Amino acid sequence: MKVLITGGAGFIGSHLAEHLLGRGDEVFVIDDLSTGSMENIIHLKENPLFHYTLDSIRNLQVLAELVDMCDVIFHLAAAVGVKLIVESPVNTIETNIYGTEVVLQFANKKKKKVVIASTSEVYGKSDRVPFREDDDMVLGSTKKARWSYACSKAIDEFLALAYYREKGLPVVIVRLFNTVGPRQTGRYGMVIPTLVQQALESRPITVYGDGQQTRSFTFVKDVIGCIIPLCEHPDAVGEVFNVGSDREISIKDLAYLIKEKAQSPSEIVYIPYDRAYQEGFEDMRRRVPDISKARNFVGFDPSVDIEGIIDSVIEYYKYKE
Ligand code: UDP
Repeated sequence: MKVLITGGAGFIGSHLAEHLLGRGDEVFVIDDLSTGSMENIIHLKENPLFHYTLDSIRNLQVLAELVDMCDVIFHLAAAVGVKLIVESPVNTIETNIYGTEVVLQFANKKKKKVVIASTSEVYGKSDRVPFREDDDMVLGSTKKARWSYACSKAIDEFLALAYYREKGLPVVIVRLFNTVGPRQTGRYGMVIPTLVQQALESRPITVYGDGQQTRSFTFVKDVIGCIIPLCEHPDAVGEVFNVGSDREISIKDLAYLIKEKAQSPSEIVYIPYDRAYQEGFEDMRRRVPDISKARNFVGFDPSVDIEGIIDSVIEYYKYKE
Protein backbone atom coordinates (compact mmCIF):
# COMPACT_ATOMS: atom_id res chain seq x y z
CA MET A 1 0.00 0.00 0.00
CA LYS A 2 0.99 3.60 -0.54
CA VAL A 3 -0.08 5.51 2.53
CA LEU A 4 -0.26 9.24 3.15
CA ILE A 5 -0.07 10.34 6.79
CA THR A 6 -0.97 13.98 7.40
CA GLY A 7 0.72 15.03 10.64
CA GLY A 8 3.16 12.15 10.14
CA ALA A 9 5.97 13.81 12.09
CA GLY A 10 3.79 14.02 15.16
CA PHE A 11 3.75 11.63 18.05
CA ILE A 12 1.08 9.21 16.77
CA GLY A 13 1.86 9.77 13.07
CA SER A 14 5.51 8.84 13.48
CA HIS A 15 4.64 5.57 15.24
CA LEU A 16 2.14 4.80 12.51
CA ALA A 17 4.73 5.53 9.79
CA GLU A 18 7.25 3.28 11.51
CA HIS A 19 4.79 0.41 11.77
CA LEU A 20 3.63 0.65 8.14
CA LEU A 21 7.21 0.81 6.86
CA GLY A 22 8.03 -2.21 9.00
CA ARG A 23 5.52 -4.28 7.08
CA GLY A 24 6.66 -3.04 3.69
CA ASP A 25 4.22 -0.25 2.88
CA GLU A 26 5.39 2.92 1.17
CA VAL A 27 4.78 5.92 3.42
CA PHE A 28 4.35 9.59 2.52
CA VAL A 29 4.26 12.10 5.32
CA ILE A 30 3.17 15.72 5.21
CA ASP A 31 3.78 17.81 8.32
CA ASP A 32 4.34 21.51 8.94
CA LEU A 33 6.22 20.77 12.18
CA SER A 34 3.87 23.03 14.12
CA THR A 35 3.63 20.43 16.86
CA GLY A 36 5.45 17.52 15.22
CA SER A 37 9.24 17.38 14.93
CA MET A 38 12.00 16.04 12.69
CA GLU A 39 13.35 14.20 15.67
CA ASN A 40 10.31 11.90 15.54
CA ILE A 41 11.04 10.74 11.99
CA ILE A 42 14.79 11.18 11.60
CA HIS A 43 15.36 7.43 12.06
CA LEU A 44 13.02 6.68 9.12
CA LYS A 45 14.85 8.86 6.60
CA GLU A 46 17.20 6.09 5.49
CA ASN A 47 14.31 3.87 4.41
CA PRO A 48 13.76 4.17 0.62
CA LEU A 49 10.02 3.62 1.16
CA PHE A 50 9.78 6.71 3.36
CA HIS A 51 9.10 10.17 1.94
CA TYR A 52 8.34 13.36 3.77
CA THR A 53 7.20 16.83 2.81
CA LEU A 54 7.59 19.69 5.24
CA ASP A 55 4.57 21.76 4.42
CA SER A 56 1.10 22.61 5.60
CA ILE A 57 -1.90 20.68 4.31
CA ARG A 58 -3.18 24.15 3.50
CA ASN A 59 -0.73 24.14 0.58
CA LEU A 60 -3.32 22.69 -1.75
CA GLN A 61 -1.07 21.90 -4.68
CA VAL A 62 1.26 19.83 -2.55
CA LEU A 63 -1.62 18.10 -0.79
CA ALA A 64 -3.36 17.26 -4.07
CA GLU A 65 -0.23 15.62 -5.48
CA LEU A 66 0.31 13.55 -2.37
CA VAL A 67 -3.31 12.40 -2.21
CA ASP A 68 -3.10 11.38 -5.88
CA MET A 69 0.01 9.31 -5.26
CA CYS A 70 -1.44 7.30 -2.38
CA ASP A 71 -4.06 4.57 -1.93
CA VAL A 72 -5.16 5.57 1.54
CA ILE A 73 -4.86 8.58 3.85
CA PHE A 74 -4.54 8.69 7.61
CA HIS A 75 -5.55 12.24 8.47
CA LEU A 76 -3.81 13.04 11.73
CA ALA A 77 -2.80 16.66 11.17
CA ALA A 78 -4.61 18.72 13.80
CA ALA A 79 -4.17 21.14 16.64
CA VAL A 80 -3.44 19.05 19.74
CA GLY A 81 -3.25 19.57 23.48
CA VAL A 82 -5.74 21.29 25.75
CA LYS A 83 -3.17 23.92 26.77
CA LEU A 84 -2.46 24.85 23.16
CA ILE A 85 -6.16 24.89 22.32
CA VAL A 86 -7.03 27.21 25.19
CA GLU A 87 -4.17 29.51 24.22
CA SER A 88 -4.72 29.51 20.42
CA PRO A 89 -8.36 28.80 19.65
CA VAL A 90 -8.31 30.49 16.21
CA ASN A 91 -5.56 28.20 15.02
CA THR A 92 -7.32 25.16 16.51
CA ILE A 93 -10.60 25.82 14.77
CA GLU A 94 -9.06 26.75 11.42
CA THR A 95 -6.57 23.91 11.32
CA ASN A 96 -9.04 21.27 12.35
CA ILE A 97 -11.93 22.30 10.16
CA TYR A 98 -10.21 23.63 7.05
CA GLY A 99 -7.54 20.89 7.08
CA THR A 100 -10.09 18.09 7.13
CA GLU A 101 -12.23 19.83 4.54
CA VAL A 102 -9.43 19.93 1.97
CA VAL A 103 -8.23 16.40 2.70
CA LEU A 104 -11.76 15.06 2.13
CA GLN A 105 -12.22 17.16 -1.01
CA PHE A 106 -9.06 15.84 -2.65
CA ALA A 107 -9.59 12.27 -1.48
CA ASN A 108 -13.07 12.35 -2.94
CA LYS A 109 -11.82 13.07 -6.47
CA LYS A 110 -10.52 9.51 -6.79
CA LYS A 111 -12.41 8.00 -3.85
CA LYS A 112 -9.29 7.32 -1.74
CA LYS A 113 -10.06 5.89 1.67
CA VAL A 114 -9.60 8.33 4.55
CA VAL A 115 -9.15 7.47 8.21
CA ILE A 116 -10.08 10.50 10.30
CA ALA A 117 -8.47 10.81 13.73
CA SER A 118 -11.10 12.21 16.05
CA THR A 119 -11.08 12.37 19.82
CA SER A 120 -12.79 11.27 23.01
CA GLU A 121 -13.14 14.99 23.70
CA VAL A 122 -16.31 14.91 21.54
CA TYR A 123 -18.17 13.23 24.42
CA GLY A 124 -17.47 16.41 26.38
CA LYS A 125 -18.84 16.55 29.92
CA SER A 126 -21.15 13.58 29.51
CA ASP A 127 -21.27 11.50 32.71
CA ARG A 128 -22.71 8.42 31.03
CA VAL A 129 -19.56 6.33 31.21
CA PRO A 130 -18.47 4.17 29.53
CA PHE A 131 -18.97 6.20 26.35
CA ARG A 132 -20.51 4.43 23.38
CA GLU A 133 -20.04 5.66 19.84
CA ASP A 134 -23.70 6.66 19.42
CA ASP A 135 -23.92 8.57 22.74
CA ASP A 136 -24.81 12.27 22.91
CA MET A 137 -22.15 14.96 22.95
CA VAL A 138 -22.38 17.19 26.05
CA LEU A 139 -20.34 20.31 25.42
CA GLY A 140 -19.92 23.51 27.40
CA SER A 141 -20.52 27.09 26.37
CA THR A 142 -18.85 28.70 23.34
CA LYS A 143 -17.33 31.20 25.79
CA LYS A 144 -15.02 28.41 26.96
CA ALA A 145 -12.25 27.89 24.43
CA ARG A 146 -11.67 24.27 25.40
CA TRP A 147 -14.86 23.16 23.69
CA SER A 148 -13.74 24.54 20.35
CA TYR A 149 -11.58 21.46 20.00
CA ALA A 150 -14.47 19.03 20.54
CA CYS A 151 -16.70 21.08 18.26
CA SER A 152 -14.13 21.31 15.47
CA LYS A 153 -13.52 17.56 15.64
CA ALA A 154 -17.26 16.91 15.67
CA ILE A 155 -17.58 18.99 12.48
CA ASP A 156 -14.79 16.86 10.97
CA GLU A 157 -16.81 13.75 11.81
CA PHE A 158 -20.01 15.22 10.38
CA LEU A 159 -18.22 16.22 7.20
CA ALA A 160 -16.53 12.84 6.75
CA LEU A 161 -19.82 11.00 7.27
CA ALA A 162 -21.52 13.39 4.86
CA TYR A 163 -18.92 12.62 2.19
CA TYR A 164 -19.51 8.94 2.80
CA ARG A 165 -23.31 9.14 2.57
CA GLU A 166 -23.64 11.71 -0.16
CA LYS A 167 -20.66 10.95 -2.36
CA GLY A 168 -19.69 7.39 -1.47
CA LEU A 169 -16.23 8.36 -0.18
CA PRO A 170 -14.87 5.53 2.01
CA VAL A 171 -14.13 7.01 5.46
CA VAL A 172 -13.41 5.47 8.85
CA ILE A 173 -13.56 7.60 12.02
CA VAL A 174 -11.52 6.72 15.07
CA ARG A 175 -12.01 8.49 18.40
CA LEU A 176 -8.73 8.29 20.28
CA PHE A 177 -8.70 8.27 24.09
CA ASN A 178 -5.61 9.85 25.66
CA THR A 179 -2.99 8.16 23.50
CA VAL A 180 0.39 8.15 25.23
CA GLY A 181 3.89 6.71 24.86
CA PRO A 182 7.44 7.59 23.87
CA ARG A 183 7.89 10.77 21.73
CA GLN A 184 4.83 12.49 23.15
CA THR A 185 5.87 15.93 24.31
CA GLY A 186 4.63 17.69 27.42
CA ARG A 187 4.90 21.03 25.64
CA TYR A 188 1.18 21.20 24.90
CA GLY A 189 0.09 20.20 28.37
CA MET A 190 -0.35 16.42 28.10
CA VAL A 191 -0.26 15.00 31.56
CA ILE A 192 1.97 11.91 31.35
CA PRO A 193 5.03 13.42 29.63
CA THR A 194 4.63 16.53 31.81
CA LEU A 195 4.54 14.60 35.09
CA VAL A 196 7.30 12.18 34.08
CA GLN A 197 9.65 15.06 33.26
CA GLN A 198 8.78 16.80 36.52
CA ALA A 199 9.49 13.59 38.43
CA LEU A 200 12.80 12.92 36.67
CA GLU A 201 13.96 16.49 37.26
CA SER A 202 12.83 16.46 40.91
CA ARG A 203 10.47 19.35 40.29
CA PRO A 204 6.99 19.52 41.89
CA ILE A 205 4.50 17.14 40.22
CA THR A 206 1.49 19.25 39.22
CA VAL A 207 -1.97 17.76 39.68
CA TYR A 208 -4.73 20.04 38.39
CA GLY A 209 -7.99 20.36 40.31
CA ASP A 210 -8.53 17.78 43.04
CA GLY A 211 -6.93 14.98 41.01
CA GLN A 212 -10.06 12.84 41.21
CA GLN A 213 -10.75 13.24 37.48
CA THR A 214 -10.01 10.05 35.57
CA ARG A 215 -8.65 9.20 32.14
CA SER A 216 -8.13 5.92 30.25
CA PHE A 217 -4.58 6.12 28.93
CA THR A 218 -3.85 4.09 25.84
CA PHE A 219 -0.44 3.00 24.63
CA VAL A 220 0.35 4.35 21.17
CA LYS A 221 1.27 0.90 19.79
CA ASP A 222 -2.11 -0.46 20.87
CA VAL A 223 -3.75 2.42 19.02
CA ILE A 224 -1.74 1.69 15.85
CA GLY A 225 -2.61 -2.02 16.17
CA CYS A 226 -6.28 -1.06 16.08
CA ILE A 227 -6.50 1.71 13.50
CA ILE A 228 -4.63 -0.16 10.74
CA PRO A 229 -6.98 -3.19 10.78
CA LEU A 230 -9.96 -0.83 11.03
CA CYS A 231 -8.69 0.95 7.93
CA GLU A 232 -8.52 -2.38 6.13
CA HIS A 233 -11.85 -3.77 7.31
CA PRO A 234 -14.44 -3.37 4.53
CA ASP A 235 -17.38 -3.06 6.94
CA ALA A 236 -15.69 -0.33 9.00
CA VAL A 237 -16.37 2.18 6.22
CA GLY A 238 -18.83 4.88 7.29
CA GLU A 239 -18.43 3.88 10.95
CA VAL A 240 -17.13 5.57 14.11
CA PHE A 241 -14.96 3.66 16.62
CA ASN A 242 -13.76 4.34 20.14
CA VAL A 243 -10.08 3.46 20.33
CA GLY A 244 -8.79 3.47 23.87
CA SER A 245 -8.11 1.45 26.95
CA ASP A 246 -11.16 0.72 29.08
CA ARG A 247 -9.17 0.91 32.32
CA GLU A 248 -9.35 4.29 34.03
CA ILE A 249 -7.06 5.89 36.59
CA SER A 250 -7.44 9.14 38.56
CA ILE A 251 -4.84 11.82 37.92
CA LYS A 252 -3.92 11.78 41.61
CA ASP A 253 -3.18 8.03 41.48
CA LEU A 254 -1.30 8.59 38.26
CA ALA A 255 0.89 11.23 39.94
CA TYR A 256 1.75 8.86 42.82
CA LEU A 257 2.49 6.01 40.42
CA ILE A 258 4.82 8.18 38.32
CA LYS A 259 6.60 9.44 41.43
CA GLU A 260 7.10 5.86 42.64
CA LYS A 261 8.21 4.44 39.30
CA ALA A 262 10.65 7.30 38.66
CA GLN A 263 11.92 6.95 42.26
CA SER A 264 11.50 10.68 42.51
CA PRO A 265 11.78 12.92 45.58
CA SER A 266 9.33 15.40 43.97
CA GLU A 267 6.40 16.65 46.02
CA ILE A 268 2.93 16.38 44.56
CA VAL A 269 1.20 19.77 44.39
CA TYR A 270 -2.42 20.61 43.57
CA ILE A 271 -3.09 23.53 41.24
CA PRO A 272 -6.60 24.94 40.70
CA TYR A 273 -7.84 24.71 37.12
CA ASP A 274 -8.24 28.49 36.93
CA ARG A 275 -4.52 28.88 37.49
CA ALA A 276 -3.46 25.92 35.34
CA TYR A 277 -5.51 26.94 32.30
CA GLN A 278 -7.75 29.99 32.56
CA GLU A 279 -10.68 31.42 34.50
CA GLY A 280 -13.76 29.18 34.34
CA PHE A 281 -11.95 26.21 32.77
CA GLU A 282 -14.09 23.07 32.64
CA ASP A 283 -12.70 19.54 32.84
CA MET A 284 -14.47 16.20 32.56
CA ARG A 285 -14.61 14.04 35.68
CA ARG A 286 -14.41 10.65 34.02
CA ARG A 287 -13.49 9.48 30.58
CA VAL A 288 -13.83 5.79 29.79
CA PRO A 289 -14.63 4.22 26.42
CA ASP A 290 -16.85 1.29 25.64
CA ILE A 291 -14.61 -0.54 23.17
CA SER A 292 -16.87 -3.44 22.31
CA LYS A 293 -17.38 -2.16 18.77
CA ALA A 294 -13.66 -2.11 17.87
CA ARG A 295 -13.27 -5.42 19.69
CA ASN A 296 -16.03 -6.99 17.59
CA PHE A 297 -14.67 -5.62 14.34
CA VAL A 298 -10.92 -6.22 14.71
CA GLY A 299 -10.41 -7.97 18.06
CA PHE A 300 -9.11 -4.77 19.70
CA ASP A 301 -7.66 -5.62 23.10
CA PRO A 302 -5.20 -3.03 24.45
CA SER A 303 -2.34 -4.96 25.98
CA VAL A 304 -0.11 -2.37 27.68
CA ASP A 305 -1.39 -1.28 31.09
CA ILE A 306 -0.72 2.03 32.81
CA GLU A 307 2.39 0.66 34.57
CA GLY A 308 3.90 -0.43 31.26
CA ILE A 309 3.02 2.92 29.72
CA ILE A 310 4.71 4.89 32.52
CA ASP A 311 7.82 2.67 32.36
CA SER A 312 8.17 3.28 28.62
CA VAL A 313 7.78 7.05 28.98
CA ILE A 314 10.29 7.19 31.86
CA GLU A 315 12.71 5.16 29.77
CA TYR A 316 12.25 7.54 26.85
CA TYR A 317 12.87 10.71 28.86
CA LYS A 318 15.76 9.23 30.82
CA TYR A 319 17.80 8.58 27.71
CA LYS A 320 16.71 11.56 25.65
CA GLU A 321 19.41 14.20 25.64
N1 UDP B 1 -3.32 17.49 34.16
C1 UDP B 1 -2.72 17.61 35.40
N2 UDP B 1 -1.45 18.12 35.46
C2 UDP B 1 -0.76 18.51 34.35
C3 UDP B 1 -1.38 18.37 33.08
C4 UDP B 1 -2.67 17.85 33.02
O1 UDP B 1 -3.30 17.27 36.44
O2 UDP B 1 0.39 18.98 34.50
C5 UDP B 1 -4.69 16.92 34.10
C6 UDP B 1 -5.67 17.67 33.21
O3 UDP B 1 -6.27 18.74 33.90
C7 UDP B 1 -6.66 16.56 32.86
C8 UDP B 1 -5.80 15.32 32.81
O4 UDP B 1 -4.61 15.62 33.52
O5 UDP B 1 -7.64 16.41 33.89
C9 UDP B 1 -5.43 14.91 31.39
O6 UDP B 1 -4.92 16.04 30.74
P1 UDP B 1 -4.33 16.01 29.26
O7 UDP B 1 -4.07 17.43 28.86
O8 UDP B 1 -3.19 15.05 29.18
O9 UDP B 1 -5.50 15.38 28.37
P2 UDP B 1 -7.09 15.70 28.27
O10 UDP B 1 -7.71 14.43 28.71
O11 UDP B 1 -7.44 16.83 29.17
O12 UDP B 1 -7.30 15.97 26.84
